[in-house]
Amino acid sequence: MKTRRVRVGNVPIGGGTSVSVQSMTNTNTTDISATREQIRRLENVGCDIVRIAVPSHDSVKTFGEIKKQVSIPLVADIHFDYTLALAAMDAGADKIRINPGNIGKSAHLRAIVEKAVGCKIPIRIGVNSGSIEKSILLAEGGPTVSALVASALKHATLLQDMGATDLVLSLKSSDVINTVNAYRKISKQSDLPLHLGVTEAGTRRTGTIKSSVALGILLAEGIGDTLRVSLTGDPVEEVNVGLQILRSLRLRSRGINLISCPTCGRTQVDMVPIAEQVEQRLSHLTAPLTVAVMGCEVNGPGEAREADVGVACGRQSALLFKKGEVVRKIKEQDIVEQLVEEAEAMAELWERQ
Ligand code: SF4
Repeated sequence: MKTRRVRVGNVPIGGGTSVSVQSMTNTNTTDISATREQIRRLENVGCDIVRIAVPSHDSVKTFGEIKKQVSIPLVADIHFDYTLALAAMDAGADKIRINPGNIGKSAHLRAIVEKAVGCKIPIRIGVNSGSIEKSILLAEGGPTVSALVASALKHATLLQDMGATDLVLSLKSSDVINTVNAYRKISKQSDLPLHLGVTEAGTRRTGTIKSSVALGILLAEGIGDTLRVSLTGDPVEEVNVGLQILRSLRLRSRGINLISCPTCGRTQVDMVPIAEQVEQRLSHLTAPLTVAVMGCEVNGPGEAREADVGVACGRQSALLFKKGEVVRKIKEQDIVEQLVEEAEAMAELWERQ
């Protein structure tokens, strides 16, 4: 179902706009400089929206300070205490994320809704498999797909009856199949924009795989308006993975598309660190460039020729390709530097266009 559109600061969500990538800071919100620096790093790699935990009144104050120092839209993540949500909106939050089930009294929820409507701030109803209300768990026989959907729809109706218009829904499970089925089910029953994610997905490796499978299936089916990849680790990696999922599905072209071979017995350079360094050093670029790092002459020249810029390695050396042509031969120790230089120069030209 085509979703409605809401705006989080200057970033639209839903209604057919491009899928935005979110992450969440893992610094202490009361540490203004550490949180601001992490937000800058997230912004630099292409994050569209940043969520910040606001667990106390001290952190609301610093949230407001941080908001003044960054330009990216900020979401205040609130649990239990409705006064924190009210204060976060006063402090400039661009969106509020709540789980209505743990806010408690209906009067408290109504106060949040009224303020959000008055300030034109969207609310995300974040339902997690670990915190579905007891009545629904009993009725559905546990934290099933139907329970997740029932909980999200119940809260959405409740908030809409209170006057909320700009809502976003998330129904996160730590189980990939349940996540996929929950979003599939709700997308047939609601036109509210959907925030995709697998909750508690795990470490960098496990979380990347689980999120890529779940989000990949959903996005390929046209479900999902914004996403967060949850990883136990540096949130910058969440953005890298989120963008890569979107790039793989051709839903976003921003940034480097790195083609690199797995290496094999034919490789005659130390390829793994070369590919990793190139990827890391080009991660700040926004230009949609394909960069190839290939290990030998079997598939190397073909892939490097197809890329915007690339290398096909040989014996302790590589041929550098640009736009399909061999430009020069370079020594192994110069591969990273020269490939990065060429890609950055191309990116600069693209920026100027
Ligand atoms: Fe092996 Fe060459 Fe293929 Fe890389 S490109 S995996 S080095 S055959």
